[in-house]
Amino acid sequence: MKIGVLGAGQLGRMLALSAYPLGHKMRFLALTEEDPSSLLGKTFIHDNNPDVINKFSDDSDVVTYESENTDLTIVNEIAKTTKIYPGDLSLHLTQHRGREKTLLQKLNIPCAPFALVNNFSDLSQAIKNIGLPAILKTTKDGYDGKGQFLIETESQMNDAWEAMSGVESILEGFINFKRELSLIAVRAIDGNLKFYPLVENSHHEGILRLTMAPAQEISDSLQKKAESYMKLLITKMNHVGVLTLELFDSDDDLIVNEIAPRVHNSGHWTIEGAQTSQFENHIRAITNSPLGDTSVKSKFNAMINIISKHGPTNKVLETRNAHLHLYDKKERQNRKLGHITITSDSYKELQKSIANLSSYLP
Ligand code: AMP
Repeated sequence: MKIGVLGAGQLGRMLALSAYPLGHKMRFLALTEEDPSSLLGKTFIHDNNPDVINKFSDDSDVVTYESENTDLTIVNEIAKTTKIYPGDLSLHLTQHRGREKTLLQKLNIPCAPFALVNNFSDLSQAIKNIGLPAILKTTKDGYDGKGQFLIETESQMNDAWEAMSGVESILEGFINFKRELSLIAVRAIDGNLKFYPLVENSHHEGILRLTMAPAQEISDSLQKKAESYMKLLITKMNHVGVLTLELFDSDDDLIVNEIAPRVHNSGHWTIEGAQTSQFENHIRAITNSPLGDTSVKSKFNAMINIISKHGPTNKVLETRNAHLHLYDKKERQNRKLGHITITSDSYKELQKSIANLSSYLP
């Protein structure tokens, strides 16, 4: 099939790399000819020209997207003539932190207490109701910890509201979590659903640095609880493709932080670490093909993000159980340039390889 991707970053690139062995062709709606995916398929440069979007859409049998910040008007326009998965409902809900959290509440899925904030007096009232510490976040367009302000004392209220530049925001109660986990699932057009194991994520300055997969010390009941939340959400959204839940593991519960309607950085380990990667399974789902096995190949896997600088890539290539993935991006502060997957059947060996590549970690 001809698969169109809205966006042409590293996620589109890895979708393409998994789609080719299945015999598909790729099209990208890119911003520039330098985007990470642009040489991996026929590229349409999107300059807000409806003709370009129509040509892209006409040349695709099915369209998908790589970001929750994808413009819904473009998605709705394309949907008039071409199948698009995941559908507009998934995008509509996950583009707005308030809608996302309202859905979680409706489904009785635990999330942080929250209140929408449109002005300073809303903020003051929200702090009275929720208490401090709390985090003020923009409702839209936030990623990698951007557009967020941690409020610890009332004296920071002014600074916090100013940091939002007057845009609609949400105040969330601060969750004292033990660790951050994520769950990735894939749902087919016929509703068939598969889950990857829970993984543990470590962030630095709001950016994911290390994923351990599967997460250690996960009871069957915790995995099942995460899967039950996922099942409720993915079914309600009638979502087709990969969906990711970012979770806080706190002493008394599993709390959903965020929902991403797409393949996710915390699932990059699946390229070498799982029987079928998240990228291949997303492609299988949107092309109405049978889903692949989501079980792990090696007992222990790690994913290290390459951020800001490419670093000692030869050292990665020399590490026996490490795999290098670069995205063809120029070095820039806090930019994701690539990742490393490490796989092993021995936890000790995995830790040794991580230590060997520790210059990539903060
Ligand atoms: P987000 O953009 O919502 O994924 O937030 C980025 C990071 O900020 C998360 O990975 C957490 O480490 C932290 N964070 C976000 N929301 C909360 C919260 N309600 N309580 C505690 N930490 C949070």
